[in-house]
Amino acid sequence: MKKDVRYTIIIPVFNEEAVVEETHRRLTSVMKMTGEPYELLFVNDGSRDRTAEIVQVLVAADQSVRFLDFSRNFGHQIAITAGMDYARGDAIVIIDADLQDPPEVIPQMIAKWKEGYEVVYAKRSHRKGETWFKKRTASLFYRTLSALTEVDIPLDTGDFRLIDRNVCDAMRGIREKNRFVRGLVSWVGFRTTAVEYVRDERFAGETKYPLKKMLRFALDGITSFSYKPLKLATYLGLAISFASLVYLAVFLIQNLFAATTVVAWAPFMAGLLLLNGVTLIILGILGEYIGRIYDETKNRPLYILRNRDQLENVNYDHEVKPS
Ligand code: UDP
Ligand code: MG
Repeated sequence: MKKDVRYTIIIPVFNEEAVVEETHRRLTSVMKMTGEPYELLFVNDGSRDRTAEIVQVLVAADQSVRFLDFSRNFGHQIAITAGMDYARGDAIVIIDADLQDPPEVIPQMIAKWKEGYEVVYAKRSHRKGETWFKKRTASLFYRTLSALTEVDIPLDTGDFRLIDRNVCDAMRGIREKNRFVRGLVSWVGFRTTAVEYVRDERFAGETKYPLKKMLRFALDGITSFSYKPLKLATYLGLAISFASLVYLAVFLIQNLFAATTVVAWAPFMAGLLLLNGVTLIILGILGEYIGRIYDETKNRPLYILRNRDQLENVNYDHEVKPS
C-alpha cells in the first residue's frame, strides 16, 4: 500500500465519552487546514463508558480515523506507546483527548518540524482551571526529577509534542515496562525545540489521573531515570552513624562528671523508632526498584489489543515487532 499519511495524531482515551466527538471535530478542522493527509489514531485504554462505541462511529464516518482498542486499562503511557507502534505518519503528534492541549498549537509544531527539528514539545506557560494542589505537585515533581536525573527532561511539559518518524522508530525500539514517555523522548535525543502554549481547562468530564495514578507515574519517572534514591541508604547510614557517635560521646562525658548515672529512656526510644522508620523507608525504595526489575523479567507484552484482526489490513508500513 502506498503510504498516504503525512501526520499521525495519537489520542489516548480513557472514559472520555463526554469529549471524544468535540476532540475529533477540533482536530479535524485544524488538520484539514494543513492540506496534507493525516490520520487521527484513537487509542482506547479500556474505557468502561461509551467511548469505544463513539470512536467506532467516527471510524465508520471518517476515513482519517483509526482505532486501537485495548483489552483493558493499561495506562496512559502505554496507550501513547501503542499509538507510536501503529502510527504511519512522517510526523507524529501526541495529544490529550480532553482538549487541555489545544489542537490549534499543532500547526506551529509542524512549522518547526519543517524547519528541521525532530522533537517539538509544547511548554505550558500557564495552566488554566487546574487545582492549586495539582499545579504545586506537578511543579515539585518536575523539579525533583531534574535534580535527580542526568537526562535533560524539559520542565513543565506534558506528553503534548510532535516527534519525527526517526524519533518514533527509536521509541518503538524501547520496550521497557514502566514507561515514562516524555523522559524516553528526551533520552533518545535528536534536534529539539519548544513552542509555548496556555494549557486550557478540561473540555468536559473529569481528570483520569487520580492521586494514586499520579504517584505511580511520578515514581516511574524517577526510578526509570535515576539511581540516586538507592544511594540514600549510604548517605543516611553515614549521617546517622556519625550522629549516634556524637550522642554516645556526650552521654559518656555527662556520666563521667555527674554524681549519678543519667539514663533517659525517652530519647532512647525515639532514636530506636526513628532508625526503624528510616530502615523501612529504605526497604521501600529498594522495593520500588526490585518490583520494576521483576516487571522487566516477566517480559509480558506492553498491551493487548482487542481489535488486532481489524488492524492487520491497515498496518503495512510499520508492522510492530513482537515485543
Ligand atoms: N488516559 C488514558 N489512560 C488512563 C488515564 C488517562 O488513556 O489510565 C488519557 C485520558 O483519556 C487523557 C489523557 O490520558 O486523554 C490525560 O488524562 P487526563 O486529562 O485525565 O489527565 P490530567 O490532564 O488531569 O493530568
Ligand atoms: Mg487533562
